[in-house]
Amino acid sequence: MATSSVHKYRPVVVSGPSGTGKSTLLKRLFAEFPDTFGFSISHTTRSPRAGEEDGREYYFTTKEDFLKLVSENGFIEHAQFGGNFYGTSVQAVRNIASKQRICILDIEMEGVKQVKRTDLNARFLFLAPPSLEELERRLRGRGTETEDSLNKRLAQARNELEYSRQPGAHDKIVVNDDLEKAYTELRDWIVDGGKFGASE
Ligand code: ADP
Ligand code: 5GP
Repeated sequence: MATSSVHKYRPVVVSGPSGTGKSTLLKRLFAEFPDTFGFSISHTTRSPRAGEEDGREYYFTTKEDFLKLVSENGFIEHAQFGGNFYGTSVQAVRNIASKQRICILDIEMEGVKQVKRTDLNARFLFLAPPSLEELERRLRGRGTETEDSLNKRLAQARNELEYSRQPGAHDKIVVNDDLEKAYTELRDWIVDGGKFGASE
């Protein structure tokens, strides 16, 4: 089934280097608009962090179960990141469409490229860090990474930033320097676009 046919509103894809502040800003958006948006809950093979709940931040899964779902064509997109698998299931996006909410996806660059090849007709926002030095400070400050996973994320950040500079890669770029300013910019772009994004 074409996923876009059940979508009243265009989904919004938020991407950007790990540690830039995507989760922080999206949590705020969902708190301000509790009935408007639905977070696309991805599958991942990485371990839960302190405070994360299965079925809320992610569906935490084994590599075996993840690959089984891949073989059943259960994912709209999927990718490897930092040694783990991540993917957006068809079901996750359908769950949101069935509630008549705007679907928000938080995914990395390879997923962005795959979503562009679907009929989801998504809008793409890139959240950029003020600098790579500040990104590293934030990742270290979050206290969730080992030295190895931190280095993988910083290496991938360079690729994400390079891709974001390609013309047409994203519809909107927000630099998350000052949190308040970044939030207002992200919220206004998402909310205003949502108002005019109805396709009925
Ligand atoms: P992501 O979801 O993009 O990986 P997070 O939302 O987990 O990033 O943010 C990474 C860290 O940076 C968190 O500790 C968060 O509190 C912090 N952070 C987010 N935005 C800002 C900001 N504008 N200024 C300073 N620290 C920030
Ligand atoms: P984290 O481990 O920090 O939660 O996420 C690592 C990276 O994976 C982030 O860039 C995040 O956007 C991305 N990610 C999360 N879910 C998905 C997904 O379903 N698909 C893809 N392609 N990337 C995802």
